[in-house]
Amino acid sequence: MRNIPYGRQQIDQDDIDAVIETLKSDFLTQGPKIEEFEKAFAKYVDVKYAVAVSNATAGLHIANMALSVKEGDRVITTPITFAASANASRYCGAEVWFADIDPDTYLLDINAVKKLIESKPKGFFKGIIPVDFAGLPVNLESFRSLADQHGLWIIEDAAHAPGGSFIDSKEQVNKCGNGKYADCAVFSFHPVKHIACGEGGMVTTNDEEIYNNLKLYRSHGITKDNMSEDPGGWYYEMQTLGYNYRLTDMQAALGLSQLKKNIEGVARRNEIANRYKEAFQNTAIKFQSLPDGALNAHHLFVIEVENRKGLYDSLRANNIFAQIHYIPVHTLPYYKEIGYGDADLSKAENYYNHCISLPMYPSLTDEEQNYVIKKVLVFHG
Ligand SMILES: *Cc1c(COP(=O)(O)O)cnc(C)c1O
Repeated sequence: MRNIPYGRQQIDQDDIDAVIETLKSDFLTQGPKIEEFEKAFAKYVDVKYAVAVSNATAGLHIANMALSVKEGDRVITTPITFAASANASRYCGAEVWFADIDPDTYLLDINAVKKLIESKPKGFFKGIIPVDFAGLPVNLESFRSLADQHGLWIIEDAAHAPGGSFIDSKEQVNKCGNGKYADCAVFSFHPVKHIACGEGGMVTTNDEEIYNNLKLYRSHGITKDNMSEDPGGWYYEMQTLGYNYRLTDMQAALGLSQLKKNIEGVARRNEIANRYKEAFQNTAIKFQSLPDGALNAHHLFVIEVENRKGLYDSLRANNIFAQIHYIPVHTLPYYKEIGYGDADLSKAENYYNHCISLPMYPSLTDEEQNYVIKKVLVFHG
């Protein structure tokens, strides 16, 4: 049997053809595929605006910039995420404080966030960055009302969740990244995520001003719109200090072709999740709970077990490359040394001691999954 990783991309002939077609076209970058991809993605997640970027970390950076995050601001995020969720605010000079997770959903616990905010004077914090961890959507309606009470912005880190959704109190389905409750959302097109561009990302928003700023920061702060003068066709203005965070047309062509498969991909991921749940339901193995009405996009399938290191090593010995998501960000040496706040993060730390992500990707066969299940149960049943 081939090695079984925890996640992998699926590249079919139509993906390859799409990239080759772009290679033969007039534009390798800054061409028509970018806008086509942005429009298709915006439609997919039910949002007004989408801005394609070179990766989700760049997307998080310009999302912070578009929300005017600056030196000395304080933001709150979850410790159970990839470091980039926190790092992007650091690029803008902000302090990153952590609040604990809910031990059942593994998501940022709104009560812990509330407690942290209320323990400080008014205006102490500026924003919240909740993460749709493993693909499970955060209930942003609740976070929005908390944020509004305290004048905070929200950036949804939806890197794990294209195609996920939750139902709000009005019984409306809210797709991750739809911008109804968050100011903006960020997606990743790294190959372990749902949509593979090699590298790539997308920022979504319903706010026109944020959208215009995202476009400026993506491309050096240079624009041909809203200029102070217009002496001729060559003229452009650099209106602010931006970056080169652009996606190429080859990547956008691949992204477009990958996006078309994501509905099917998320359905298959849920099929795989249900097979795992069925196999582990009467054992001591614990898995992420699913709130009523939520659709988990399942970037990951995480279980919690007593002897995690033992299971990790035993699966490796059987060519199953399970992974750990994540080492809590506040325990990484860089953040440990800074040591923002003193919130109780024991649930995140306890989760980390037991979690392991099993193989989860649409092309995982039933036979491969049965093999994984068997090896997990042999060790842990
Ligand atoms: C992968 C990931 C990112 C960063 O994505 P890149 O596209 O690799 O920059 C950010 N946040 C989370 C939660 C991620 O999993």
